[in-house]
Amino acid sequence: MMSSAPATLPFVVLVGNPNSGKTSLFNALTGSAQKVGNYPGVTVETSSGNLKLGSGTVQLMDVPGLYSLRPVSADERIAVDIVSGSSKVDAVVAVLDATSIERGLVLVSELLEAERQVVVALTHTDVVRSEGGEVDVPALEAALGCPVVEVIAFQRKGLEELLQTLDSVLGKPVSTGLNLVYPQIVSAAIASLQERFAMAGVDLSSSEARHAILDEDSVFLQQLSVDRPELAVAIQEARDGVSEGGSSGRMLDVQARYAWASHVRSKVLTKSPVVSRRASDVIDRYLTHRFTGLIAFVAIMFVVFQSIYTLAGPLTDAIESAVGWLQGVVSPWLASAPHFQSLMVDGLIGGVGAALVFIPQIAILFLWIALLEGTGYFARAAFLMDRLFGWCGLNGRAFIPLLSSFACAVPGIMSARVMPDERSRLATVLIAPLMSCSARLPVYVLMVSAFIEPRYGPVWAGVALFGMHAVGLAVAIPIALLLNRRILRATKVPFILEMPRYQWPRWRDVWLTVYSRVRSFLQTAGSIIVALSVVIWALTYFPRSDASDAIYAGDYQGLSTSVRDRVSEEAYIGQRRIADSYLGRMGRTLEPVFVPAGYDWRLTTALIAAFPAREVVVSAMGILFGVESDGGEEVKLRDRVREATWPDGRPLVTLPTAVSLMVFFALCCQCMATLAAIRRETNSWKWPLFAFSYMTLMAYAAAVIVYQAGTALGWS
Ligand code: GDP
Ligand code: MG
Repeated sequence: MMSSAPATLPFVVLVGNPNSGKTSLFNALTGSAQKVGNYPGVTVETSSGNLKLGSGTVQLMDVPGLYSLRPVSADERIAVDIVSGSSKVDAVVAVLDATSIERGLVLVSELLEAERQVVVALTHTDVVRSEGGEVDVPALEAALGCPVVEVIAFQRKGLEELLQTLDSVLGKPVSTGLNLVYPQIVSAAIASLQERFAMAGVDLSSSEARHAILDEDSVFLQQLSVDRPELAVAIQEARDGVSEGGSSGRMLDVQARYAWASHVRSKVLTKSPVVSRRASDVIDRYLTHRFTGLIAFVAIMFVVFQSIYTLAGPLTDAIESAVGWLQGVVSPWLASAPHFQSLMVDGLIGGVGAALVFIPQIAILFLWIALLEGTGYFARAAFLMDRLFGWCGLNGRAFIPLLSSFACAVPGIMSARVMPDERSRLATVLIAPLMSCSARLPVYVLMVSAFIEPRYGPVWAGVALFGMHAVGLAVAIPIALLLNRRILRATKVPFILEMPRYQWPRWRDVWLTVYSRVRSFLQTAGSIIVALSVVIWALTYFPRSDASDAIYAGDYQGLSTSVRDRVSEEAYIGQRRIADSYLGRMGRTLEPVFVPAGYDWRLTTALIAAFPAREVVVSAMGILFGVESDGGEEVKLRDRVREATWPDGRPLVTLPTAVSLMVFFALCCQCMATLAAIRRETNSWKWPLFAFSYMTLMAYAAAVIVYQAGTALGWS
């Protein structure tokens, strides 16, 4: 969502701690629909939009959250580069969360020093007030020496005033009333460093001197050590002097800022809120506990998958009937042009319809994700994950990318930028595609509804769905361990996360999540699935000729009567036509590879066709199993798959085959977009190739093992 505005527009950046309300404010101001969420890592990219002020338009940019202008993770670096890099920033809107004002003020203090025009947008004051606290805005303005506006984005409160204030400061000279008090040892070092620079004929302001001393990785020193080595030595001596007391320069700096921030807080939050977090602390203790937390997590996920399965049923049936009805209506119109009729009815409507059927499941999945996220549960789950899986290198920060990968690996891979070190980031990127994304849901639902529900009932159907989502996670753990210990050698990084308050989800955010996910699925259905459906149809339809049809008819007559009783001549010819089509030949060539997993050439073909985008598989199966079905009568894909047979009449898909197929899809890397995202994030071809190979090999091996073991155990 990066876009660059014409250079002439003034440039305003929204900066603040993660969770302070930047994106909510950005959306309210610009009318856009970026994702908000109450855990860090939601915004890992910048997004920008135009903003109309009284005096003209400015460009507003939302950046990832920051705790300090000294970045630790890749997403923070993006933000810092924009705020304090060389780029032209005309003003900064510092988003300050009144409920954690001290931590926010530490960042504000750095912004004020960066000599930018700053306007503070004070958020979450509604929460402070509802807990009985009072906020003194003029006192905050006085302490900071910059304008402060109270805003509550979702009530649209204070937005107009913020715009006016922003308008009035743009282009004005920067002034700040910031007054940090450093320990004696620091001020003495500053004074003496200024003196030594003055003697060398170089002018050094006291804030420059302070930065040189306290900021260990300032570029200032590196530059100087080349140009003026003797001054670099002076700085080094000043640093050593300061850290003699046992605290590093960085620590002294942070301490001074916190002391200042807590002083400001005491003046601004006049009546401290009666903190009543007791109940929520108790709940947290259970939800983040290794044992009770895990039980709660599994229970919640069970409800989620159960409801996906049962609630979506009627809607799915309705869509299925609508698709069948459309095929029935369109088919007779086109009867005069059989090729075109087949293209439209079997290829396009059949292929796209097979995918559309899964919209209810996807919507319900995202409804749950949005609800759980909106209440604040996910932060607890991240914490739990850190406790449970920290040992294998999946720290709590990895939870966010991995969790978003359950929707789609692409944003998940991108949000791995929240990982603080390169190696664990890479490990997270490489296992993110193992999380069961929503595009796998159609295969699971198809197999479960054909082979598990009819036999074991809806409860086990839900369990199976849940189990398939757990497979990827279960495999990810040893792989993460292996990657972290052997291949990447990542170091363990502590995970700190502040628990957001429990709250009712905001319906607008919930709606936006569901809507944007369904829309993006529809976009895939409208583009990739349409295109691939046509290609797959053509490859299964051609070549065909009357001569070969005559041969098939002759062969049919030669079949034993018992087989002829089961299969109509029409259906037999249809099967032979597909088997001899271009795609059929390809599938039959590759069939021996997949026979150990229990797949015939049709399943093999559907699986190969799904490598560019796995959701295509249901469309491909719709075409492969559905073409030439008896005269427009509505037959569900799951029934066709259930009734399909091997040439000798044995049922094609049995329970071991169904589970093996689901496992294959759970583990295989069938998504070009994911590989492209890995390539982009790692900037190399090596890692996407690695992810593709390890996942595909593992999927194949697991599929074969499941099928063979299942058959040996006598499942049928
Ligand atoms: P960001 O990480 O800074 O972009 O923060 P978001 O905009 O994603 O918001 C974090 C959470 O705080 C979301 O759940 C918002 O709905 C909520 N939020 C944002 N501003 C306010 C506010 O002024 N009052 C309250 N009560 N909640 C807010
Ligand atoms: Mg954000």
